[in-house]
Amino acid sequence: MKKLVAGNWKMHGVAADLEQVRAIAEASRRFPSVDVALCVPATLIERAARAVPGFAIGAQDVHFAEKGAHTGCVCTAMLTDAGASLTIVGHSERRDSQRESDADVKAKSEAALGAGLGVILCVGESLAQREAGEAVRTASGQLDASLPHGEPAAAGVPDRLAVAYEPIWAIGTGKVASCEDIAEIHRALRERLVAAYGEAGDRVRILYGGSVKASNAPEIFAVADVDGALVGGASLSAEDFVPIIAAAAAVEAAPPIA
Ligand code: PEP
Repeated sequence: MKKLVAGNWKMHGVAADLEQVRAIAEASRRFPSVDVALCVPATLIERAARAVPGFAIGAQDVHFAEKGAHTGCVCTAMLTDAGASLTIVGHSERRDSQRESDADVKAKSEAALGAGLGVILCVGESLAQREAGEAVRTASGQLDASLPHGEPAAAGVPDRLAVAYEPIWAIGTGKVASCEDIAEIHRALRERLVAAYGEAGDRVRILYGGSVKASNAPEIFAVADVDGALVGGASLSAEDFVPIIAAAAAVEAAPPIA
């Protein structure tokens, strides 16, 4: 499966940073075996999409409603109009600070797929849940409850849906899950995808996210069922992000280690 390496710029990025978008898009052409995307702040989507035609620019969230009285929110039509081709949904920072439920995340993924956008759907356990031995159950339960179903899902699976396993305790902390832990969760998520979509579930990409950087990317990408990465801090500059893309390209042909 072709790996997907997606950057999540979170609340970083103004016009001056389009230089990094250009540099990343330009460098990613050297790695045609890897799909690369950058999910930038909503205010930068249109300018980024214009700056790098043909390169995948995404959003970090979307509302599930078509339009209406939702102050401060952005709907799928606005994203496609601005030039986005995908969106993240269910990032733990939104599940936490915006109190997004699995039902919200499901509605968002269905709306985005229905509108023709790609979706990166995030799940992952807290440190307390991992320490309580609840990591697999938590991530699998979130996936079951937030996976898109119905007509929009059938149209978008597997090509436009990716799942990102992001242990909350590993995001922005410098801590990374072990290869064994990543393999265990990704295997469980794969089973849930196949249970939901049949054979097509085998072709949904499962990304790992949580302090991925150039130094740990090669071993993470070599783990079975790791089909790419969602990268926060290390996606903000070409200098940090391009070596991660290169690492994904390098393991493409190599067999998985776990
Ligand atoms: C993220 O924001 O999805 C993420 C994984 O962040 P970081 O790579 O900085 O841990």
